[in-house]
Amino acid sequence: MAASTVCELCDGLEVKTARAKPHDQMLPMEEKRVFGRGHRGYVEQDYRCVECGARFTFSTDKNNKPWTLWRG
Ligand SMILES: [Zn+2]
Repeated sequence: MAASTVCELCDGLEVKTARAKPHDQMLPMEEKRVFGRGHRGYVEQDYRCVECGARFTFSTDKNNKPWTLWRG
């Protein structure tokens, strides 16, 4: 298995912008995690790509980058 490569869908995801939506083959994992509350609060959600198995974390934390890709 070539765990270090991701599929075209994952490769094409604009991970630097918060506006990027999970692509069609990405499924949410577990429950989303809520931190804080109100305007200081933020949410994190893990996703897994069914195509290549890549795992992502999406965060609405303003101090964090929106998407983190965990390469195998
Ligand atoms: Zn993928």
